[in-house]
Amino acid sequence: MDRRIIVAGGGASGMCAAIYAARNGASVTIIEKNNQLGKKLSMTGNGRCNISNLNMNEKMYNAAAEKRMKQWLSVYGVLDVISFFKSLGIVVKSEDGYLYPLSGQAQSVVQAFENEIKRLGINVIFGEQLKSVEPITGGQERKYRVITNNTFYEADRVIIATGSLSGPKTTMSTGDGYYICKKLGLTIKDTYPALVGFKADPEEIMPEGGVRSLAEISFLLGTEVVAKEYGELQITKDGISGIPVMQASSKVVRLLEEKKPITAVVNFFPDYDEDDYVSLEKEMLRLRDERTLSDFLTGFHNSFITDMIIKKMKMGRSMKMKNISESMVLSILDSYRNYKIKLDSNYGYLQSQVTSGGVSLGDVRDDMTTTSHDGIFVVGELVDVDGRCGGYNLQWAFTSGSIAGTVASI
Ligand SMILES: Cc1cc2nc3c(=O)[nH]c(=O)nc-3n(C[C@H](O)[C@H](O)[C@H](O)COP(=O)(O)OP(=O)(O)OC[C@H]3O[C@@H](n4cnc5c(N)ncnc54)[C@H](O)[C@@H]3O)c2cc1C
Repeated sequence: MDRRIIVAGGGASGMCAAIYAARNGASVTIIEKNNQLGKKLSMTGNGRCNISNLNMNEKMYNAAAEKRMKQWLSVYGVLDVISFFKSLGIVVKSEDGYLYPLSGQAQSVVQAFENEIKRLGINVIFGEQLKSVEPITGGQERKYRVITNNTFYEADRVIIATGSLSGPKTTMSTGDGYYICKKLGLTIKDTYPALVGFKADPEEIMPEGGVRSLAEISFLLGTEVVAKEYGELQITKDGISGIPVMQASSKVVRLLEEKKPITAVVNFFPDYDEDDYVSLEKEMLRLRDERTLSDFLTGFHNSFITDMIIKKMKMGRSMKMKNISESMVLSILDSYRNYKIKLDSNYGYLQSQVTSGGVSLGDVRDDMTTTSHDGIFVVGELVDVDGRCGGYNLQWAFTSGSIAGTVASI
């Protein structure tokens, strides 16, 4: 008889696991509590789905996972994802190493997964929520009872792919897998939102709206730089966000939760070295004449950033430049390279892209089985693996899903 595999969760990792298992001849059922497959996948990459990255290595993941990721990526890496996508009929393109479907549409990726699931005859049960998994004792073969909010099923292998706590409500990311795995005796590492922005002191940001600017941002605990990133910073009405902030968030969130004071120091002239900037300042000093402060700074940088700086320095925009001392002018100009924003808290799970923490890697074998039960697998974000922005989290979903689906079926 075909091996009966139940996959709980029809997101990126679950659908991938189901496809690999079914291609190997297993009889596969996906239990999905949402009313559609791949809801979160359809929102990824701003609707374009950044599936992986050619610059792939273990350093792109949380420190606790690095060693294991090296091994897992050697089994199923970026080239395997590209081939897998080809087998689904999805053409992949690179944008500076960031991989996307050529269609530019995440929805087309979900559709291609659904087509393959249909072609392979995978049974999909919608609107049902996994509650627990119990080993059935007594028989010769390992078997499991899979209990949902509605009924129960028997399976030879169970793959838990229920995701994390991150993402909008419609993604159904309520972290069910954590308590389900805890009941199975697995250790759950404390969870935190990651790839997330931060609320900040309203005095230091822009209550009226937002602005985007290339910047280098250093995150400081006292004088210690805990993270430093470069990229497009977004300053919103109540905080800071954007890729460089998200990249640093994994470390910064934990420090803020420990009530450590963190200050973001923004350099709005990231591509200027010291000499370039000093000569720029000298040029600017020549313009100290009858004009107002507002006119003086008009071409210097984005007007919203300038407004923010003038406000923080408590200067009047109509002040005449000839009445502002040279040292004061230099200190205004220096603010563009050292703009300090005191961080308050993170935006929370609903606005985070991933969750750090989860099922401890100490309880997960290389083949994605759990150390407590040989026939139960854990995959995707449920596990204590989180990557940087840039396709690393979907790569992990596909790496873990493909390994579990293959091993579960043989
Ligand atoms: C807005 C946004 C954009 C992102 N963009 C990218 C990107 O471009 N590139 C990238 O690499 N990563 C991106 N990510 C992260 C990436 O989407 C996730 O890491 C990935 O989807 C995790 O896959 P998963 O299968 O573990 O979980 P999910 O994709 O969340 O799937 C879990 C599934 O399990 C179901 N489920 C939950 N509980 C139960 C239960 N009890 N019973 C049955 N079913 C259940 C859920 O409904 C869901 O369908 C983004 C995330 C967000 C929120």
